[in-house]
Amino acid sequence: MLESKGKPKKILIVGGGTAGWMAANLLATKWQDTEICLVESKDIGIIGVGEGSTPHLKLFFDAINVADSQWMPRCNATYKNGITFDGWSTVKGFESYFHPFAAQTDDVFTVPLFFKNIQARMQGYKVDAHPDKYFLESYLAANKLGPLPNDTFPFGLAYGYHFDSALLGQFLAEHAQSLGVKRVYGTVTKVSQNNHGELNAAILSDGTMMEADFFIDCSGFNSLLIQKTLKVGYRSFKECLFNDAAVVMPSVISQELPVETKATALSNGWAWQIPLRNRFGNGYVFSSDYIDANQAETELRQHLGLLHSDVEARHLKMQVGRVEKHWYKNCLAVGLAQGFIEPLEATAIALSFNTIAQFMQYFQQGQFSNQFEDAFNQDINSRFDGIKDYVVCHYKTNQRRDTAYWRDNAANNKISDTLNRIIQLWQHSPDFAGDMQRSKLMGSYQAKSWACMLAGYGVFPPTSSDPSIDYSMHQHEIDALNDFIRRCGLNFKSHNELLSN
Ligand SMILES: Cc1cc2nc3c(=O)[nH]c(=O)nc-3n(C[C@H](O)[C@H](O)[C@H](O)COP(=O)(O)OP(=O)(O)OC[C@H]3O[C@@H](n4cnc5c(N)ncnc54)[C@H](O)[C@@H]3O)c2cc1C
Repeated sequence: MLESKGKPKKILIVGGGTAGWMAANLLATKWQDTEICLVESKDIGIIGVGEGSTPHLKLFFDAINVADSQWMPRCNATYKNGITFDGWSTVKGFESYFHPFAAQTDDVFTVPLFFKNIQARMQGYKVDAHPDKYFLESYLAANKLGPLPNDTFPFGLAYGYHFDSALLGQFLAEHAQSLGVKRVYGTVTKVSQNNHGELNAAILSDGTMMEADFFIDCSGFNSLLIQKTLKVGYRSFKECLFNDAAVVMPSVISQELPVETKATALSNGWAWQIPLRNRFGNGYVFSSDYIDANQAETELRQHLGLLHSDVEARHLKMQVGRVEKHWYKNCLAVGLAQGFIEPLEATAIALSFNTIAQFMQYFQQGQFSNQFEDAFNQDINSRFDGIKDYVVCHYKTNQRRDTAYWRDNAANNKISDTLNRIIQLWQHSPDFAGDMQRSKLMGSYQAKSWACMLAGYGVFPPTSSDPSIDYSMHQHEIDALNDFIRRCGLNFKSHNELLSN
């Protein structure tokens, strides 16, 4: 259907979680002549988790003209330099590594030496290729320094955030309403369609009929419009991402606020620890095929030192996968309604932002027809699949063998051809970064990120101990880089100080 009906006069968003309110804010900011209405169900509520982001949340706030200082204090938010992965590898010296965000301007000074030493290490030379030695963000995280430098510092750093998801939802709801978005409480029980199968109206349990020209499905795992009404197919990722449940609980925050998320591998999954201004948010993401919910809760309590505490735990189920089409007819799905790749890299908000922002571009370029529906769906699918491959790689190349869960993940061959080729390149290419670029395999992550993970796990052949090789030059270069990083670090305030400004 290529015919354009012109810019929608009225858009109805179904769902008032983070995804729904993000969509409402972006639409209301950019399409001011369109009436935006959001309906949400008090009975169903929101999922209420999701407290870490990538730098895309900054892009989102920039797009709606909201500064850090406006929303962060309201949401108990802190800054995030990246993620420390603890216990995913048992290789000596590689039990933990830090993953910085992509595309920093100082990378030009640090990344070449990282790749040079990775290649040397791949040939068996005894050089230090642990990623923590090579990035300013690792230094900042280790020293609890925030990501915003002094004005005179020449490099820009991308950063993410940690935040209270309920408070973020409230902030976004208020902001959207200040932009003119109409908020309605009600539960949609029926959706009507016209003769072409397009959506006409959402009908609430009290009989209210909410008509619109275009609909945004932000109904969470319910996926009320895109899957239940329009019957768009769903592709599960379960065969390569085993986790399907989580248990969540808060704990007391340390005085000095960390600037990183911690992702610690446990017996049958992993636990996040996210620092907010008033508490740590914690959760254990696990596979119910390997451990039951009660055992997982006990293990999380043990991990947090809360075994004998009466702090309440919340249990959640989750589906991993994505819809085949995110935009179909006059409906766009955003957030959990369109899919979810478990939270290891905290990418859900990034995908929601990309989905809404890209949709607005494609729709507008096609004069508000469905001309670019296929191109858009391919674009979003490749973003989902690229992130999925990156997350799967954490499991596939894990270096633990202590439980069936980790052994089965390592032995799992149901991974994509792309991921297979990336792992092959890591093992055999004399120029991993260059070959990744040339083969266009990187997906949503840079070669640097792939290398951080694989080098961070210590996925290297054994080192040789050839006494005729002099390694002092390598060490000299690393020492010089570490000195450069330390001096860069002098331009950054402590995280606590940054937040108190
Ligand atoms: C364990 C876990 C950890 C996560 N961690 C992260 C993270 O660190 N970072 C990140 O970016 N993301 C994370 N996520 C994902 C994140 O929680 C979601 O992407 C985010 O909260 C957005 O959710 P949503 O708005 O799509 O759905 P929800 O919050 O579930 O909102 C759905 C909305 O739809 C409404 N609704 C549903 N059915 C109806 C109906 N019939 N009528 C009217 N309204 C209806 C509900 O009332 C609600 O308002 C995590 C998810 C899980 C499961």
